[in-house]
Amino acid sequence: MSSPLEPPDSTGPSGESKPADSPIEIYRHSCAHLLAAAVCELHPDAQCGIGPPTEDGFFYDFLVKEPFTPEDLVAIEKRMAHIIKQNRPIEKKLIPKAEALALFASKGQSLKCELITEKAGEIVQCYTMGEFIDFCLGPHLPSTGKIKAIKVLSSSGSLWKGKEGNPAMQRIHGTSFFTQEELDQHLHRLEEARRRDHRKLGRELDLFSIADETGSGLILWHPKGGFIRKNIEDFWRDQHLAGGYDLVYSPHIAKIDLWNTSGHTQYYKANMYSPIDIEGVEYQLKPMNCPFHITIYKNKLRSYRELPLRYAELGTVYRFERSGVLHGLLRVRGFTQDDAHLFCRLDQIDAEIVRVLDFVTSMLRAFGFERYDIYVSTKPADASGTDEQWNVATTALKKALETRGLAYEVDPGEGTFYGPKIDIKIKDSLDRAWQCSTIQVDFHNPNRFELEYIGEDGKPHQPVMLHRALLGSLERFFGVLIEHYAGAFPLWLAPVQAVVIPVSEEQLGYARKVAEKLQAAGIRVHVDDRAERMNYKIREAQGQKVPYMFVVGKLEAADANAELVSARHRHAGDLGSLTPVSKWIEKIVGLSRDRAVSEGEVPMEKTKPEPSVVGSPGGVR
Ligand SMILES: [Zn+2]
Ligand SMILES: [Zn+2]
Repeated sequence: MSSPLEPPDSTGPSGESKPADSPIEIYRHSCAHLLAAAVCELHPDAQCGIGPPTEDGFFYDFLVKEPFTPEDLVAIEKRMAHIIKQNRPIEKKLIPKAEALALFASKGQSLKCELITEKAGEIVQCYTMGEFIDFCLGPHLPSTGKIKAIKVLSSSGSLWKGKEGNPAMQRIHGTSFFTQEELDQHLHRLEEARRRDHRKLGRELDLFSIADETGSGLILWHPKGGFIRKNIEDFWRDQHLAGGYDLVYSPHIAKIDLWNTSGHTQYYKANMYSPIDIEGVEYQLKPMNCPFHITIYKNKLRSYRELPLRYAELGTVYRFERSGVLHGLLRVRGFTQDDAHLFCRLDQIDAEIVRVLDFVTSMLRAFGFERYDIYVSTKPADASGTDEQWNVATTALKKALETRGLAYEVDPGEGTFYGPKIDIKIKDSLDRAWQCSTIQVDFHNPNRFELEYIGEDGKPHQPVMLHRALLGSLERFFGVLIEHYAGAFPLWLAPVQAVVIPVSEEQLGYARKVAEKLQAAGIRVHVDDRAERMNYKIREAQGQKVPYMFVVGKLEAADANAELVSARHRHAGDLGSLTPVSKWIEKIVGLSRDRAVSEGEVPMEKTKPEPSVVGSPGGVR
């Protein structure tokens, strides 16, 4: 979009050639002007900054004395609707620079004057919407009446031109669509995303926290979150051992020399913490696991017969992220990568990359992810290695994807400093893409560390390294899992798989007996023995997303040897009264073993609303 309505760092000055705007961008860009017109009419002191369209809406920044209140936003949206109804024309005006500067100055729009001074030529292109005028290259809709469905969403703080030290602005976010139906769908998705927010669910389900006392971006895993992590780790390790990997462990710090050799202190410094002085020697908190695995490789002379060597580690790393970008589990300062380094011969890399790709897809499928966006990132400006090496590596990555028939896009210049990579973004149940898996080819480190193996010819050769992560990091992946399942984890991950709910004190003994039976089969079960009403306990178990609830009352307990329960499921609701507990044991054990993510015949939460807990389960009482 044209320069004044675009974040200043993302485009050149006015008049530069730019890609053609898509119809929805032109539409939303016009909505941004509409928003600015409404704000200026309701808040005559407001100064306009910039206001581009975004991926799913638009925003506009304003300099105002007081932040906008929710009531302000309602009034602004109302004013926008009014301007749409007036069907004001959006008209281009070409104004000599001096005149334009005087005009915007007379309206108190000194930020616009600043933009015109910086970006405009001798003739300044502006657009009007009635009395409202904005400095802009367009294009726009011909009139406000063309805008059919619009919503003002929120406001937040921003900085003029996004620069620290510049005036603090108020950014109003909005969205718009060609039809009301599309807008409604989008708003529903936003609402669903809020409901699934992993920070909110992390609190409600007691999974993890981030405490002021310990520091921003540092995750505390609570018992339930910790249990899920243990399950993920166990599965991950088993799969790696079965897949021909060796498990290794490495420390959290190493001498700075190691990081000088790897090039991290040169290429990766901005992401690293300050060194630690230990008896006069500098040590570095690790931002990556690679140099440790390389050191293990170097520990003895290697033969071509040993390759490929595959070292895997759930390795915790620390990277400097500014406090402003930290976000729950998704952007943190300390995290555990599900890392591995593969050392192979040049003639092995094609097959190894395909093998890793297969591992990625099978691993993701086990967690319920079947759809991805795949990117191949190429050589960045600040890179190590020759063009020749980059070409070989980039070609190998593309070839592997093509072998598996996986579509990809090229992300130019987004490779790491040591090599190109495949990035896999997984799509969750709301169709959002999350960066998790990565596969990277590296000629740089084998060279810097002078890695060798003795070839068939009895001479030393240099191996190639592959770096890869399947889940990305456990923290981030856990955040994605929480949002994907809205906290209702599949049985094999659920920290509590079943709750036994006695209807009254009288059935407490029977409830414990049922629980023991479940527990003996390896099911994670809990007896809700509180003196609360049955419906309250069901609602609570439902809120905690416990997959199965077994209610036991007088009838169920009548014949202790029959071992009957009334069963409920968190999604399906009532599963039948007076059913033998052995039936449910078989089912839960089977679904857990298969790591079934769809709970067998039971529909996923996203396809079915929460069942009501009003009335008695199974109608036994
Ligand atoms: Zn414009
Ligand atoms: Zn690595």
